[in-house]
Amino acid sequence: MRTRVGIVGAGPAGLLLGHLLAQRGVDAVIVENRSRDYVEARIRAGVLEQGTVDLLTKAGLGERLHREGLRHDGVNLQWPGERARLDFPALTGKSVWVYGQTEVVKDLVQARLDAALPLHFEVTETVVADLETDRPTLSFTDSSGARQVLDCDVVVGADGFHGPSRGAIPEPRRQTWERTYPYAWLGILAHVAPSTDELIYAWHPRGFAMHSMRSHQVSRLYLQVDPTERIEDWSDDRIWTELQTRLSLDGWSLETGPVFDKGITPMRSFVSSPMRHGRLFLAGDAAHIVPPTGAKGLNLAVADVALLSRALVALLRDGNARLADTYEDTALQRVWRTTYFSSWMTTMLHTTSDDPFDHQLQLAQLRQVFSSSAAATLLAENYVGLPLGE
Ligand SMILES: Cc1cc2nc3c(=O)[nH]c(=O)nc-3n(C[C@H](O)[C@H](O)[C@H](O)COP(=O)(O)OP(=O)(O)OC[C@H]3O[C@@H](n4cnc5c(N)ncnc54)[C@H](O)[C@@H]3O)c2cc1C
Repeated sequence: MRTRVGIVGAGPAGLLLGHLLAQRGVDAVIVENRSRDYVEARIRAGVLEQGTVDLLTKAGLGERLHREGLRHDGVNLQWPGERARLDFPALTGKSVWVYGQTEVVKDLVQARLDAALPLHFEVTETVVADLETDRPTLSFTDSSGARQVLDCDVVVGADGFHGPSRGAIPEPRRQTWERTYPYAWLGILAHVAPSTDELIYAWHPRGFAMHSMRSHQVSRLYLQVDPTERIEDWSDDRIWTELQTRLSLDGWSLETGPVFDKGITPMRSFVSSPMRHGRLFLAGDAAHIVPPTGAKGLNLAVADVALLSRALVALLRDGNARLADTYEDTALQRVWRTTYFSSWMTTMLHTTSDDPFDHQLQLAQLRQVFSSSAAATLLAENYVGLPLGE
């Protein structure tokens, strides 16, 4: 089999890249080791930057997003006795949108199937090879058990943190930067109308808590927990009680409801370079991970793809290698700025010690966001997202 771009992974990065390439006349084949049901149900991110929404809309993927997504013009930061709001349009002229990653993936899969473009689910033994030649290959065993070899012009690893593509870059060329945080997020989805119109990020001496949502009927809430905690030890009652304690504010109450999903996710920052090796390009979580506090992981994957799609169209359709040659440098600038922002939000809001000095430093940072318009603008600009292409 022959295609121009072989894409490993049908997460947001791989699916969006396939879509943008097809719109510009460049064929691609996407292979995914999970089933369609699995990738469409995988609960992950839920906040889209303005630039992500604009890109999806321009790519013809915004119809359901605009119908069912919730535009948010601000977020609340809270510490005991105080809840303060950042007004995004006033500070930046932009907003964010609450629309689950599950829904973004469903829209992308549907668009690909409607266009009858190749997308293979449930493949096994994915191998990328011959990366330093002009004819790299992507091999896999398809769901019927047949071994397939795709001859490509370019292979893209959009296969997430655990996928094989990053490991295909020779070890001596690879450099990684990593930080594992000493806490994790216990997240729940509950059938209950959100008790807030906009997200609440709460600092509390017992640990961070967050109130988010997926729709007018479904709330998404998180608690900072120790990474060694087991979800079996957290009954729904225990979770709601802890959320009530950490999110409490005079005159406000948290509505509870049936929990239908819960899990514990470790938190890490991770950046791997290079994002290009010969004819292999990496995009999204395959090259970098941010902790979820800044709501950036999915948006960063989209930003990579916005750059990479332009670079590959220029390379493969117009014979111009300039954008492909600068892809890594341009992408990494945004990756590091986003890594910094996500790390700052994380360390400002999570408690790691009982040391009252550390707590006061965190509270001073939070108060500064509301006493300095420069600090407020800095947080808001990063939260709503840098323009795509920067
Ligand atoms: C548990 C969890 C919770 C998260 N919560 C948030 C959040 O609240 N906010 C936020 O902004 N971000 C969050 N993120 C991060 C965000 O979901 C990711 O940044 C985003 O999914 C990145 O998209 P991607 O396409 O690069 O990678 P992925 O979504 O990981 O997609 C990679 C795809 O490659 C496939 N694949 C892997 N190996 C192979 C193989 N050998 N062959 C073929 N296919 C393969 C995988 O099955 C997957 O479908 C969370 C991530 C996780 C893991």
